Amino acid sequence: MRDTVPATPLLQGRSRLTLAVLLAGLWACAEPPAPAPPVQAGNVSDARLRAAGEDTANWLSHGRTYAEQRYSPLAQIDAENVSELGLAWSADLQTMRGVQATPIVVDGSMYVAAPWSVVHALDAATGEELWRYDPQVPKTHSRFACCSVASRGVAVHDGRVFVGTLDGRLVALDAADGTPVWETLTVDPSQPYSITGAARVVKGLVIIGNGGAEYGVRGYVSAYRSEDGTLAWRTYTVPGDPSLPFESPAMEKAAETWNGEWWRYGGGGTVWDALAYDPELDLLYVGTGNGSPHARWARSPGGGDNLYLASILALRPDTGEQVWHFQTTPADTWDYTATQHIMLADLEIDGRMRKVVMQAPKNGFFFVLDRETGEFISGAPFSKMNWALGLDADGRPIESEYGDYRTETRMIYPSQIGGHNWHPMSFHPNTGLVYIPTLEIGMPMGYDEEWVHQPGRWNLAVSFDGYASGGNVALGYLQAWDPVTQRPVWRVDHVAAWNGGTLATAHNLLFQGSADGRLVAYRADDGEMLWETPAGTGVMAGPVTYTVDGQQYVAVAAGWGGSFPMGMGSMAAQARVRGGGRVLAYRLGGDAELPPGLPWPGPPPMPSFALEASQADVDEGSRLYHLECGVCHGGEVVGGGSVHDLRYSGEAVHERFQAIVRGGERAQLGMPAFGEILSEEEARQVQAYVLFAARQAATQDATP
Ligand code: CA
Repeated sequence: MRDTVPATPLLQGRSRLTLAVLLAGLWACAEPPAPAPPVQAGNVSDARLRAAGEDTANWLSHGRTYAEQRYSPLAQIDAENVSELGLAWSADLQTMRGVQATPIVVDGSMYVAAPWSVVHALDAATGEELWRYDPQVPKTHSRFACCSVASRGVAVHDGRVFVGTLDGRLVALDAADGTPVWETLTVDPSQPYSITGAARVVKGLVIIGNGGAEYGVRGYVSAYRSEDGTLAWRTYTVPGDPSLPFESPAMEKAAETWNGEWWRYGGGGTVWDALAYDPELDLLYVGTGNGSPHARWARSPGGGDNLYLASILALRPDTGEQVWHFQTTPADTWDYTATQHIMLADLEIDGRMRKVVMQAPKNGFFFVLDRETGEFISGAPFSKMNWALGLDADGRPIESEYGDYRTETRMIYPSQIGGHNWHPMSFHPNTGLVYIPTLEIGMPMGYDEEWVHQPGRWNLAVSFDGYASGGNVALGYLQAWDPVTQRPVWRVDHVAAWNGGTLATAHNLLFQGSADGRLVAYRADDGEMLWETPAGTGVMAGPVTYTVDGQQYVAVAAGWGGSFPMGMGSMAAQARVRGGGRVLAYRLGGDAELPPGLPWPGPPPMPSFALEASQADVDEGSRLYHLECGVCHGGEVVGGGSVHDLRYSGEAVHERFQAIVRGGERAQLGMPAFGEILSEEEARQVQAYVLFAARQAATQDATP
C-alpha cells in the first residue's frame, strides 16, 4: 500500500488511514467519499489514560497504565507461536550511549527518547522516522549526569509529547511534527541537577522530577500544566535551611530528623525515576533517592532518619500535598535510592484483597505496602545483602554491624547500583508474580572523614580507596517473585549483570532483554526460555507491545551503557557487547535484517606514546582517575563497551591529552573540560596512569 502512495515521511502514519478512507469511498462508487476523520497525533486525553488498561492497541504511558504493571492483555503472540517471532523493523537511534527509554505508542506512532534527551517519532508499523527533536543539551552537562546521559522516555497528552531534558528543562512538542510548543526550566541552572526520568501526565499536569544527589542537590518533584507549562506545584523531598520558613508541614516534620548543615550540601532525595498513580484513591506515588552526600555521618552528623530520603511518598496530584510516607532505608548511607519502579496491584493477602504498592528498591528488600495508608504489609530480601539483618514489624531495616563502614572499608551488598536499579519490573495477573531484573554485586565503601563539600563536584564522603574489581563478581538474574509469600519462584541466571526491564503479556509470556545482547521470551509461570534473538547490543530498557492494523508488535529500545558499564567496566565487560542504540520491533513472521552490532574489540595495542612518569605519578594518577574519571571511563581503566575505553587511545589522543581533558577539546562528544578540577600536573599523572593501565592490559592479554 505504502509503495503506491507518495507521501512525505511526516505523513506516513496518516496517509495509511487516508488511503483506507479513500478506498472505502471508491467502493461506495456513486456515493460521495466520506470525509476523512481528523487524526490528531498524540490524541491522549485524561479519560484515555485512565482507561489505558483496556486500550490494548497502544502503550500510552511509561508503565502502560498508571498502575505501572507493564502487563498487556494482547494475545496474538503466545507461548505456542512465540518461536515464529521475527524482526519487523529497526530504527537507528544514532548513539553509543546507554538507551533506557520505554517507547510510548499512540495510534500507530511511537515516541522514544534517546540519550541527550533526543526524541524520535517513528511509524510504529515500519520504523520510519516521522520527526526528530534534539533539545541541544550542552554536552558539558554530562559532568552532572552521574549515571550517563540517558533518558527513560517521554509522556504524551493532548497532542503533545513531553520530554525532560538532561539539563533540566521540560519541553512540550507538537506530537504531529515535533515542533516545540512550550519549554520551561525546572531547575536552578547553577545547581548540578539533571533529568533522566520519564514524565507522567496526571489530571492534565505533567509530573517531572530530577537527579543530582551524587553532586549535592535538594530533591523535589514538580507539576506543570500540560497546556501552557506553568508550574502548578512543587514538593520538596528533604528540608531546606531550617532558619527559613518550611514549605509544608511535611518539611517541618522532616527537619526534626536531620542534624547539622545538610541544606548546604543539598541533602539529596531526588525523584529521578519512579512515579505511579491511583485514580480511585487519587494518590500520586513518588520514589525518592539517596542522601547528599552519601555518608550520613557527614550529611547529618547528629543522626536522625533524614526524612524523606529513600522513601515512597503518596501525594495529592492536585496540590503535591503529602498524604503518607514510607522510608525504605532510614538514614541512608549506602546510596540506597527508593526511586526504583513503583507498581500498584490488588492482591489477596491473608484472605483479604489489599490495594498495594510494591517496590524492589536498591537496598535489596522487596516491599509490599497498603497504598491507601502506607502501612507496611510485608517485606523480604530479594538479593544478597549484608548491610541489614532483616526487617522489624514495621518494615524498618535492622542494620548490621558490618554495614557501618566508618572504621574500615567494607564490601557492601547490595552495591551502590543496587539489588535492583531503574530497569522496570512487570507483574503478570495470571501468575501473580513480579519479575525483577535482579543485581547481585558488592562494592567497597569506606568513610571519607576528610570530605569537604565542593559545590558542583562529586560529593559522596565515601572513599574509593582500595577499589579493586579483582575477585568481585557481578551477577545478574531474572527473578520471578511472589509478592504475597515474599519468596522467589524461579530465576534465570544471566551471563552478565545489568539486564533489561521486563514485559508480561497474556498467555503466559514474559519478555526481557539481556546485557549480552538478546531479547528473550520466557514462560511466565516457570521461566522456561521459549525464544531468543540477537539485538546487536546490550538491552536494558523495558520492552512494550502494541498493535497496528490488528498486527501485534513487541518492541524494545536497545543500546548498552549507563552507570554499570561506565563505572564497573571490568564486570560489565562480561557481557561483551558495545553501545549502538536502536529500536527493534518484532512480529510473527517478521523477516527484517538485524543491523550488525559493533564487534567486541581485541586486546588493546601496546601504547607507543612516551610520557616521563614515576611510579609515584602513576599512583597519584590512579587516585585522581578513580576520583574524577572512573565513573564514566571505568574502574581500573577498563571500559564496559559504552564510553570510550581509554586503553585503546592512540597517539592522537595522548598528544592532545591536556587539551582534551583540561581544555574541553572534545566537549561536543560528551567529554567535559576538567581544567578547573585537574591541574596540568594532575592531568599528566592521570595520563601516566592510563598509559600504565594500557601497557599492563596489552601485556596481560598477550600472555596466554
Ligand atoms: Ca545515587
